[in-house]
Amino acid sequence: MERFAVYAEAAEEVKKKLDRLAKKAAGYEIPFSYTVSEEHPEVVRVMDAGPDGTVHEVNRYTVAAVDFVVECDGLIKANGWTVCAKIEHGEKGNIVTGFGGHPVLPEWYSVDAGCDHCHVKRPRSVTFMCENEQGEYRQVGRTCLKDYTGISPATTAMWAEVRDLMAGGMDCMIGEWESRNPAQMYDVRVVLAHAYDVVKEFGYRKSDELNSTREMATDRVLDGKEPSAEGLSVAQEIVDWLITMDVEGIIGPERDCVPLVQSGYAKRRHFGRLAYMPVALKRHKERAAREAKREADRQMAATNSKYVGAVGERLSIKVAAAQLLTSWDGYYGTTWLYKFTDESGNEFVWYASRPCDAIGGEVLKATVKDHKERDGVKQTIITRCSVAA
Ligand SMILES: [Zn+2]
Repeated sequence: MERFAVYAEAAEEVKKKLDRLAKKAAGYEIPFSYTVSEEHPEVVRVMDAGPDGTVHEVNRYTVAAVDFVVECDGLIKANGWTVCAKIEHGEKGNIVTGFGGHPVLPEWYSVDAGCDHCHVKRPRSVTFMCENEQGEYRQVGRTCLKDYTGISPATTAMWAEVRDLMAGGMDCMIGEWESRNPAQMYDVRVVLAHAYDVVKEFGYRKSDELNSTREMATDRVLDGKEPSAEGLSVAQEIVDWLITMDVEGIIGPERDCVPLVQSGYAKRRHFGRLAYMPVALKRHKERAAREAKREADRQMAATNSKYVGAVGERLSIKVAAAQLLTSWDGYYGTTWLYKFTDESGNEFVWYASRPCDAIGGEVLKATVKDHKERDGVKQTIITRCSVAA
């Protein structure tokens, strides 16, 4: 099993190569399969060579990467044998490529190009180091590999192709970095914090407006500016809110940002949604406060409100508060739905066929029509209301 990460942009190309190898492996009846992970952030180092040829790190970036896991051991394992290394023989010494994570032994760099199978002494450019189940090494030439181990040099070469896909990892030289121009990933908290700072300074401006919040926050992120401590603290609040949000049935920018805060990283094209989140959090908190107030009022009413009078009884109600709940047009005309509360906290409901100008402080004359409980609150339904003179 081989595991390696590649730039997300290169994933399609790697898949194509692996598919081609899988097809070839099937021709040799060798099991070969692979899996690809979702995109995730990966830190890469970008290097440059100094005038004396030494390589040094010039920068680190977080980019989108995907992981490949390739099951391809059958290419270099059979009949108790494992090909451990390919040795390319040259006049100035050998080049050794270790296979399957096998450690390369120092003596392989200077070993002669002999073959333990045919024992024929002749110049060979390539030999293979093989290990049996007893942990013994045998070196065989390319043409004898198949006879000796049952492993074809062709499948061994395919294994080397898999290995080439992962060669060097994701760190790269500056030239390669520039030509790759990979999608970078940015810390979601930093983006959110800058968005908060920008909104605080200039107010929220939509993405299609001049100097939009997204644009200004993006500039600050790309310039590597430090967000304010307050911005970072609000960013954390936004992350906590989104991560614990019940996403069932939720659509819109908040929902889109949930996977971003879960991964902790975002690409530039996601900045617009993130830039809106300080506003979204503010609205969420206002909504939550309104709901909390409504619930507190309801609980208070559930405790205080009692049924008043008997059905048919004429009451005098000292109105403490009056509220038009809603109104609608029907077949018989408009209906206005009023709620009155008296000084003891009892609730009265009136389905009125005309508007009422009571605002509190008046005494209403009304007849009890019914008693009903709504959301745990006992309400007296009244009719034939009039403000007493
Ligand atoms: Zn041989």
